[in-house]
Amino acid sequence: MKTKFATAIAVLVLGGLVIMAFTVPTKKKLVEAIGSVGKLSKTMQLALDPADFLPMNKPGPHDWLANHEEFGQTFDEYVQEGFVSPDKQRKKIYLLPIGPFAKGKSPSKKKLQQFTAAYFGLPVVVLDEIPVSGHSFTTRINAYTKKRQILTHDILKLLRKKLPKDGFCILAITMEDLYPDPDWNFVFGMASLYARVGVFSFARYDPAFFGQARAKNYLDTLLRRSCKVLAHETAHMFGLQHCIYFQCLINGSNHMQESDSRPIHLCPVCLRKLQYNIEFDVVKRYQKLLGFYKQAKMQAEVEWVTARLKKLTAK
Ligand SMILES: [Zn+2]
Ligand SMILES: [Zn+2]
Repeated sequence: MKTKFATAIAVLVLGGLVIMAFTVPTKKKLVEAIGSVGKLSKTMQLALDPADFLPMNKPGPHDWLANHEEFGQTFDEYVQEGFVSPDKQRKKIYLLPIGPFAKGKSPSKKKLQQFTAAYFGLPVVVLDEIPVSGHSFTTRINAYTKKRQILTHDILKLLRKKLPKDGFCILAITMEDLYPDPDWNFVFGMASLYARVGVFSFARYDPAFFGQARAKNYLDTLLRRSCKVLAHETAHMFGLQHCIYFQCLINGSNHMQESDSRPIHLCPVCLRKLQYNIEFDVVKRYQKLLGFYKQAKMQAEVEWVTARLKKLTAK
């Protein structure tokens, strides 16, 4: 029977690591992860209807959940564990560009700012770009790509000093490649939740980084990928752990194909957590996102948010 299968626990041994095989959550588990909605407004109840979202599917052998043990974090667990919240004093998200964001080769900083502001319902400030040199950043040339990389630790150290008094967090964004430790090849980004700092690179989202041809619409792809990583990592800043329940922005991903397949939206479990933390109005948030997606010509997202708004505002 299906249920018996879902509860059977299999163990895989991968490279010496014991990883419990991921089992696709049952409908009951999904409802439990969202938590009791009886006391919420009618709009919130509609926003959290699990029937409107795709459940997590079975991972392929190279996907995140086949290689990382994730226990999930239900809404109730999120509330119990506690989280960092924006307050009257610290409510702005600061973005600090490191190195140039050359036009035609980089996502637009203005668009990243507008998207982040709509996604989190908080003021987002883009600081003046700082150069790579002159900040005592340790750099190296990567042996495989022959491209310069910056040590993430040095950037995080600078960010801790730069966090403004009204900053909920400060996130460095860069088109430079990063590495976290001399033993590592590279890293997409790194964050420290309690220090409220993070750094993310969009360098590897451009096919030209790997010497591949850029597709005609690659700037759209670059913007979508950059928005997704920015929102995913920023959501971690609000205490959200990886989602294992639905297909969701907060799912972990192991490779580009997997992260490209993830939606930009939040599932009901993650939407509820973020709304509980920030206390935004879900309808207004979707309206702002719709405005952004229309302007950025992100058609699939326009359609998705339009359908959500139709459901949430139906009389
Ligand atoms: Zn993550
Ligand atoms: Zn989720």
